[in-house]
Amino acid sequence: MNDRERRLLGLGSPISRRDFLNGTLLGTAGLIAGVPPTQGAAPADTFTGYGGVGDYRLANGNTWPVVQAAHRLRDAQYPATAYAKAAPAGEYDLIVVGGGIAGLSAAHYFLKAGGRRRVLMLENHPIIGGEAKQNEFLVDGERLYGPQGSNDFAIPTAGSGSLTDAFFAEFRLPREFDWQTWDTGLAPLRFARDNYSNMDGFQESQVDVGYYFDRAQGAAAPVWRRNIWNDSLVGTPFSAEARRDLMRWRATHGPLSEVENRYLDTLTYRDYLENVRGFDPAVTRFVEPIVGLLSGVSADAASARIGRQLVEAPANPMALSFPGGNAPFPRALLRALIPDALPGNDFDSLLFGAINFGALDRDATTRIKLCATALRLEHRGPAAVEVTYVQGDKFFKARAATAVMASGGWINKHVLTDMPDDLRAAYDEFAYAPALIINVALRQWRFLYDLGVTACRWFDDDGFGYCCNIRQNMTTGTHAPPLHPDRPAILTFYMGLPIPGLAAATQGPAARAKFYATPFADFEVRVRRQMLRLFGPQGFDPKRDIAAIVLNRWGHARLIEPPGFHYGVGGRPSPLERVREGYGRVAIGHSELNGAQHWGSALEYGKKAGERAAVIGGFG
Ligand SMILES: Cc1cc2nc3c(=O)[nH]c(=O)nc-3n(C[C@H](O)[C@H](O)[C@H](O)COP(=O)(O)OP(=O)(O)OC[C@H]3O[C@@H](n4cnc5c(N)ncnc54)[C@H](O)[C@@H]3O)c2cc1C
Repeated sequence: MNDRERRLLGLGSPISRRDFLNGTLLGTAGLIAGVPPTQGAAPADTFTGYGGVGDYRLANGNTWPVVQAAHRLRDAQYPATAYAKAAPAGEYDLIVVGGGIAGLSAAHYFLKAGGRRRVLMLENHPIIGGEAKQNEFLVDGERLYGPQGSNDFAIPTAGSGSLTDAFFAEFRLPREFDWQTWDTGLAPLRFARDNYSNMDGFQESQVDVGYYFDRAQGAAAPVWRRNIWNDSLVGTPFSAEARRDLMRWRATHGPLSEVENRYLDTLTYRDYLENVRGFDPAVTRFVEPIVGLLSGVSADAASARIGRQLVEAPANPMALSFPGGNAPFPRALLRALIPDALPGNDFDSLLFGAINFGALDRDATTRIKLCATALRLEHRGPAAVEVTYVQGDKFFKARAATAVMASGGWINKHVLTDMPDDLRAAYDEFAYAPALIINVALRQWRFLYDLGVTACRWFDDDGFGYCCNIRQNMTTGTHAPPLHPDRPAILTFYMGLPIPGLAAATQGPAARAKFYATPFADFEVRVRRQMLRLFGPQGFDPKRDIAAIVLNRWGHARLIEPPGFHYGVGGRPSPLERVREGYGRVAIGHSELNGAQHWGSALEYGKKAGERAAVIGGFG
């Protein structure tokens, strides 16, 4: 990159990030986004990059220390002596590995079923929440929040008896919310209230979405088209056949029966689109990145059962998002487990209160150890399990009557050394794909307003990402950021990294290897270049407009579900069923046991595992 491009991209400015020059830390963290050092700018490194401000600043996605510890475990690099000499760290009734929604749910429901017991929770990040965490920014005096991953939720119907309904009731979560209002005097725009609704196949008809086409898509010159579905794709460069079939694709919606789902699980989504429905391949290309985000893999590898869930159902209400995505759910569970850890009992403190880290590891009932990676969990005699974990450079071991693995299969395979062969074989069928969530804190977004949009979609084959949007934020008594094109806001990019043409099981590892090998600085350049290409002609200036960029890498974001995975093939049960059973004194409860993960499945499988552990331990 030459100096001119560096200047154009705003890479020389003391903003955004980390201050690296050619990958070298310059050590000016205090200047990041105008945040004084006392506000705790994250220590930058070439992998993790700038993490924002506030309690979550050291935990943006899978950070370098977390990845390092996990890979050392995978590669058997911890010496045998470390296990042998691990310091005793107490006896408990339950050990929980993983402090995401599932782990916290397991602990909560274990205690409800088993009475006052001692729980040890190990979480390898510096804060609880797992994929349901938030990024925080301070831009020109405005505190802004964005999701790191887990983002949208639907309000459960009161009295429906569902687990999420019971959860909302138990934790007194509101079911009506306030949202930023548009009182600018300018013509209003329509926003998504989360970071999915703007995507095609969700609720994009309720959002003002701009579609960017250039010569590669057949446009005579780069052009923006707004809300393309409104006028049946007129003005887009798609061929007549593609337009017809895209409209037919979009008109396919409605719930599916179990029989239909089972049928769809026997073929790939591409087969379904092109061979069953006979659609032009342009439809597959159109949906490819969305399928890639949701399923982790391309349409020629994902089950049609997952792809078919796309396509806007007009009656569906817009999905919602808390300011920090689904972070309030694990925070509510944390507050129930250790009230001092998140003081207060109102909604605002649930969302924005500072975590009292000192309270996490001192309560007699539940102790949460952060930055603690479980390395090995095995049975010790007929009535106990023992976990060995590393925290910093120290090794510990603790015992309990029972354990819940609320972590995913990619790590459980290495931790559970005494698991039976059939469970290992089931786990060997699990494959995972990465996802990347990038929050770009903007000083202003007039360039989008002038396009008449709050979300964008583009179609590069080799470019970066495929969509981004600005949410209409939920507001509360203490949090009401402005909704004005001349004021700060977060522009969020969600993307999977599918690799069409590769088998389902190899796409994830191939994408992950590339993604782990890419330094933060490279991703940053790609974001800035893409934004400059898309929005430069509208007056966007990266140097002036970008206040900060936070990258959230999720190496194992999605459990890949190729055809046959969900229901099993040839009369053989799905490997999901075997894993759900656990073994011995170990209950397994992670959102992935649902197949497609969501906060409700994390709650559900965590609860089931916690209650099962209470029975195994003889407490229930
Ligand atoms: C990019 C992305 C977007 C998503 N969007 C949505 C959405 O919009 N809505 C929705 O409902 N869901 C969404 N999800 C799904 C999300 O998986 C669930 O909502 C939920 O947050 C998962 O919770 P969990 O506890 O099952 O798993 P996790 O959040 O993965 O929690 C497991 C925890 O265990 C820790 N851990 C792992 N190994 C060890 C070890 N050896 N020792 C100690 N700790 C360990 C992990 O670091 C993690 O903190 C999204 C997920 C991703 C990745």
